[in-house]
Amino acid sequence: MRYEMVVGLEVHIELSTESKMFCDCSAKFGGEANTHVCPVCLGMPGVLPVPNKKAIDYAMRASLALNCQIAPFTKFDRKNYHYPDMPKDYQISQYDKPIGSNGYVVIRTDKGDRRIGIRRLHMEEDTGKSLHEGVAAGSLLDFNRAGVPLIEIVSEPDIRTAEEARLYLQKIRTIMLYTGVSDVKMEEGSMRCDANISLRPEGSSEFGTLVEIKNMNSFRSVQRALEYEAARQQSVLESGGRIVRETRHWDEGRGVTFSSRSKEEAHDYRYFPDPDLVPLEINQEWVDEVRRALPELPDQRFRRYVEEYNLPAYDARVLVEDLALAGFFDEAVAAGANPKAASNWIMVDLQGLLKGEGKSISEVKIKPSHLTQLIDLIEKATISGKIAKDVLVEVCFTGKDPESVVKEKGLVQITDESALIKAAEEVLAANPGPVEDYRKGKKNAIGFLVGQLMKATRGKANPGLANDILRKLLDGSV
Ligand code: ADP
Ligand code: ZN
Ligand code: MG
Repeated sequence: MRYEMVVGLEVHIELSTESKMFCDCSAKFGGEANTHVCPVCLGMPGVLPVPNKKAIDYAMRASLALNCQIAPFTKFDRKNYHYPDMPKDYQISQYDKPIGSNGYVVIRTDKGDRRIGIRRLHMEEDTGKSLHEGVAAGSLLDFNRAGVPLIEIVSEPDIRTAEEARLYLQKIRTIMLYTGVSDVKMEEGSMRCDANISLRPEGSSEFGTLVEIKNMNSFRSVQRALEYEAARQQSVLESGGRIVRETRHWDEGRGVTFSSRSKEEAHDYRYFPDPDLVPLEINQEWVDEVRRALPELPDQRFRRYVEEYNLPAYDARVLVEDLALAGFFDEAVAAGANPKAASNWIMVDLQGLLKGEGKSISEVKIKPSHLTQLIDLIEKATISGKIAKDVLVEVCFTGKDPESVVKEKGLVQITDESALIKAAEEVLAANPGPVEDYRKGKKNAIGFLVGQLMKATRGKANPGLANDILRKLLDGSV
């Protein structure tokens, strides 16, 4: 029997507000332990939380970017459980009235576009951190993160492969970067993911029993964990066993999921409305205001690149997926660069250089207007495309503008016929073999000779002119 994987993801994202969700402590990542704390986020008795308006705006912005409806009436609930990193013994979250619901994102797979439903998006507060490593006895607690605003995005069980899960997460991340509500760094924990996975016989319309996987901290580990877990569930089913609903943890080093059942995880949180916080009514005016402030989103930018600039879908996708590259491209085009040329330079040469150096675009010195100027120099035939590659590298490292680099290094293309003839004659004299081949009718032997002439002029010859001159000399018409 063949099995199909069914996956739904729960993604937590920390919002990049200045202050925490319910107090005015700094929400900044890191810091000396327990320096971003106050009686509210330490859960002292008698304190009163006050919601952060910016965090609510951000949750609304994220909801709209994920095509969710915004609830006109929403509220905060207490999710009760005990854990050392949460001194109140409850987390303020949203239970039955999430701020956003019924949205979707579109991912692009080998089989075409797939729409993944977003069941809900709700607001909550982050917990503190327990530190066990390097501690002689017991654990240490750091509450700097306690009370940092979070959104949780819960997908429908619409994901069917481990790769789709990765594409979904990457899409969510890109959208969040575009909206600017979070820096979405998986390595710093500002984006975290839990995965729910079940199997069912192919063709079945019912869902199987799900297992929840926690503790994956990269896109790759989500994909690996799902692949492992699907294989594990399949072998249980094939040997006649049943899947138990449980939470499993991903062990990155061993590449396995392992069961971690414990009483603590029994899902009975006794949610009830937080009596310290009034419900939130969100009128249409507020929604409209947030909608108006939404920046261009990845799918819109993709359409603009394909429809207005005629970029191939592949180019458009690569640029759009990297907010910094897309911004660089837009600025170069705004400064007058031909879009297709700009995209080629960015995708091939610039990206190649960045990969080689292990740097991001902001870490090299080239500016978008430099690229515009470089393309202009090629179009005016001041330099050849080949020389332009060297100029690009120079600009990236020195930050000098391309025109100055060309002038300083004497790289101006040789477009003067008389200046090339002498060099061409030398090339012919030095290569009697290919010359003879050409004269005997092997006309493509000229390619080699053009290459030699380019080399002799250190790439400065205009390739078209080099070709013309060699042909004339060989045919005896000069
Ligand atoms: P809740 O935790 O609110 O009871 P569920 O457990 O039904 O909600 O859903 C939590 C997550 O699990 C969602 O992302 C959902 O898409 C996913 N999910 C629900 N049922 C299944 C299933 N049978 N297989 C895989 N994922 C599922
Ligand atoms: Zn505080
Ligand atoms: Mg949750």
